[in-house]
Amino acid sequence: MSEEKLPSRTEDFSEWYNQLVLKAELADYAPVRGCMVVRPYGWALWENIQAALDKRFKATGHVNAAFPLFIPMSFLEREKAHVEGFSPELAIVTIGGGEKLEEPLVVRPTSETVIGYMYSKWIQSYRDLPVLINQWGNVVRWELRTKLFLRTLEFYWQEGHTAHATEQEAREETMRMLGVYADFAINEGAVPVIQGVKSENEKFAGAVQSTSIEAMMGDTRALQAGTSHFLGQNFAKAFNIQYLDTNNTLQYVWTTSWGLSTRFVGAIIMTHGDDQGLILPPRLAPVQIVLIPIYKNDAELSAVMPVVERIKAELAEFRLKVDDRTEVTPGFKFNDWEMRGVPLRIEVGPKDVEKGMVALARRDRPGREGKSFAPQAGIAVAVTDLLTDIQKSLLARATAFRDSHIFDPKAYAELTEIVQNGWAYSYWCESAECETKVKEDTKASARCIPLGQEEGHGKCIVCGQDANRKVYFSRAY
Ligand SMILES: [Zn+2]
Repeated sequence: MSEEKLPSRTEDFSEWYNQLVLKAELADYAPVRGCMVVRPYGWALWENIQAALDKRFKATGHVNAAFPLFIPMSFLEREKAHVEGFSPELAIVTIGGGEKLEEPLVVRPTSETVIGYMYSKWIQSYRDLPVLINQWGNVVRWELRTKLFLRTLEFYWQEGHTAHATEQEAREETMRMLGVYADFAINEGAVPVIQGVKSENEKFAGAVQSTSIEAMMGDTRALQAGTSHFLGQNFAKAFNIQYLDTNNTLQYVWTTSWGLSTRFVGAIIMTHGDDQGLILPPRLAPVQIVLIPIYKNDAELSAVMPVVERIKAELAEFRLKVDDRTEVTPGFKFNDWEMRGVPLRIEVGPKDVEKGMVALARRDRPGREGKSFAPQAGIAVAVTDLLTDIQKSLLARATAFRDSHIFDPKAYAELTEIVQNGWAYSYWCESAECETKVKEDTKASARCIPLGQEEGHGKCIVCGQDANRKVYFSRAY
């Protein structure tokens, strides 16, 4: 941990992010270009993300399983759009045990194919449906431009794969899991997200329809933070996943897939962080509270430590760390834990001991504004209230930031300005031509057509043709 400061977030957001990831010890660069090492602190954050999601998956009837890392190349070729979409980023194994393989093996970029193959064996009758399986694992996509957590050759994620008897059920599942992601992002990550439908250009290779949750990062660029796909019968037909219905007629199943990855760590960093470092939402923070004893000599130390121990015991329900390092100053410790984004700091010094008080400092409000004092008695209640308020404040602040950077341009020229520092919310004719023009002119893409928008009619912001739905255009990660 060095005491060097981060680059300014407003002046160089990209470099601020890169250095923050390293200094907060979330991740490091691996020896292979484009790969990342997730360090224990970053992994602890990911584990909390996993736990919050897994609980929701189980509550909606899903179970976990594990499928293989290697997939026969021919499997990918069975679904045309799928192989076309993924071919440029495949890692392919051709030698195993010193022998050239009869068939090359793909290191999974996603598992629709191998899971589809297994489902064709497991599903025989309508009684076998629905199949609701999730897998936690890693995948490999050979990306050229990489950035820690946001885009790496190998990343960690979960992928849900479900099979249903009817189209309606599969469509409902797609939207249910999108809702689960939104609930998780908003209520656990304090990351406000917009649920919507992806454009044809941006949809998953092999999907009939893709949906996503989209979040605005601190530089106003969009981040696709989770996706849920309705796959129709594309994979069912490619892998012959059929069942006998109640009339004893053979039918193809309808499938979905949905995923959320370690990218979400990037979303948390870029939504909440500041010039001092990370700011973590209390519900996901690996360390929710850091407790720091303040003393100048042995006499003060022996007065302070029993109180520190007692407070630690009273706060046993929280993820709490006592920083009793003797080789560094309290000031160093403050900076260190601020860099790591710990939501709440408690200080106990000799004067606090005398008064029966502690000093509290909230990470989301640096300096004097975030400081308060509380009696040692009943500290658990005070801390619960503060952490709840921090969680709420982070969401409110991110939502206000997002909403103040979404604009409704009146003309195309205005759109091209807006997307330099915000999102444009505009009617769009949904043609690929207009989407491509925006991308070529501004680097902004169609992020999603939000759900639940009021029915309306307008003119496409690009071509002026009639349009029924509005879309968000923005630059994106
Ligand atoms: Zn148009």
